[in-house]
Amino acid sequence: MNLDSFRHWAHKAADWSADYLGSVAKRPVRAQVKPGDTLKQLPLSPPAAGESMDDIFADLDRIILPGMTHWQHPRFFAYFPANSSPPSIVAEYVTAAMAAQCMLWQTSPAATELETRMLDWLRQMIGLPDGFRGVIQDSASGATLAALVTAREKALAWAGNKEGLAAHAPVRVYGSTHTHSSIDKAVRIAGIGDANLVKIPVAGSHYGMDMAALDAAIAADRMAGRVPAAIVACLGGTSVGACDDIDAAADIAARHGLYLHVDAAWAGSAMICPEFRNLMLGAERADSFVFNPHKWLLTNFDCSAHFVRDAKALTDTLGIRPAYLRTLAQEGQVDYQEWSVPLGRRFRALKLWFVIRSYGVAALQAKIRDHVSWARALAALIDAHESFELTSAPLLSLFSFRYAPREAADLDALNARLVERINDDGRIYLTQSQHEGSFVIRFQVGQTNTTRADVMAAWDVIREIAAEL
Ligand SMILES: *Cc1c(COP(=O)(O)O)cnc(C)c1O
Repeated sequence: MNLDSFRHWAHKAADWSADYLGSVAKRPVRAQVKPGDTLKQLPLSPPAAGESMDDIFADLDRIILPGMTHWQHPRFFAYFPANSSPPSIVAEYVTAAMAAQCMLWQTSPAATELETRMLDWLRQMIGLPDGFRGVIQDSASGATLAALVTAREKALAWAGNKEGLAAHAPVRVYGSTHTHSSIDKAVRIAGIGDANLVKIPVAGSHYGMDMAALDAAIAADRMAGRVPAAIVACLGGTSVGACDDIDAAADIAARHGLYLHVDAAWAGSAMICPEFRNLMLGAERADSFVFNPHKWLLTNFDCSAHFVRDAKALTDTLGIRPAYLRTLAQEGQVDYQEWSVPLGRRFRALKLWFVIRSYGVAALQAKIRDHVSWARALAALIDAHESFELTSAPLLSLFSFRYAPREAADLDALNARLVERINDDGRIYLTQSQHEGSFVIRFQVGQTNTTRADVMAAWDVIREIAAEL
């Protein structure tokens, strides 16, 4: 493709994107295809000769679009959001054009230094104190893995990296029963093992870790000769928004000399509103903190903001400099490849720069405040309805509920059918969870273009379909 042709198709892509976003609300939110529907339309072998872009674009509309679930649909209330916004998309276009590999300072100094500044903007926006330094990771899972490997090495005085774990007593990690599966996965990859991830029961307001049980578990492990290494505190759990008392966890971490990692993957974005920061009290004493602007801060996936209090501990753990990566190090030079598991790095700071400058902090705060207040309003309506019950109160913009008409026998089966019917209908998209032994329906508000009317329309759809069951 020559440059003139590229210009044509890049314009076409821009038109396509604007048309898509302008019409996405008319599509079913969740893809309505069956397994294999897309696959069977794709040739078994690659073409030997190049095909026309006209044909390729036509197939995009014909084959791919019907098989897409529309995360940027304003009536997407499932999972957590995966935000996007026009300035973020534009930044992704130009990032793709430059296609830089930003592993080292010298492989793109501006990318590195913009990342440093953007993470410091984000740090200020969420109210973490000066002294935390940030890096963009591919995902919260990647950040948590980096944090737990660092915690493991701190606990073993960096012997694990050198000798492996076989010669050492088991390294222990603690988190609540509500922590995300990415912690389980990180513990596996870090060689710590499922058996050494201690799940502490939750108690009290918003499903926080039972701190006395945490304290006792650490003491018992120490007595038994194990190596307590890290506490993972949850700020906004995925099921029903569980929140640990981070301040109390920080006390316990300090008392026992443990590393404290805060997983705020989704809820962290709401910390840009000072009125919600009571949830992160104590985070200033954490060793690391992760949240995903790619969830709820209008920034395209992937962009996970990982803050650490001691960057040297992280780079001592993950930093390796083989001869072919060595540069003539200059004062103040940061090589972010030493901060993360993958070597290669996309230029992800640019979209943050576009988003934060284009909206400004006040507009970003207003979005989050709207989402939270609309979720609370809908939760109140559901709570007041005689045939529905709230199964968890709103934590920011997430709550759960179930349909519980008086005459119904098997509520789990009834609600499973309700979610399925709703998603087959396609006007809205919801997902489920298991909470306190019951099948519950999650509801979160967070898509960039969702309005109050969209949230209220969801309530109409839910009642209408429930009545038909
Ligand atoms: C979404 C989520 C994660 C995982 O995020 P990725 O960036 O997809 O790895 C981890 N923890 C919590 C609480 C989440 O909500």
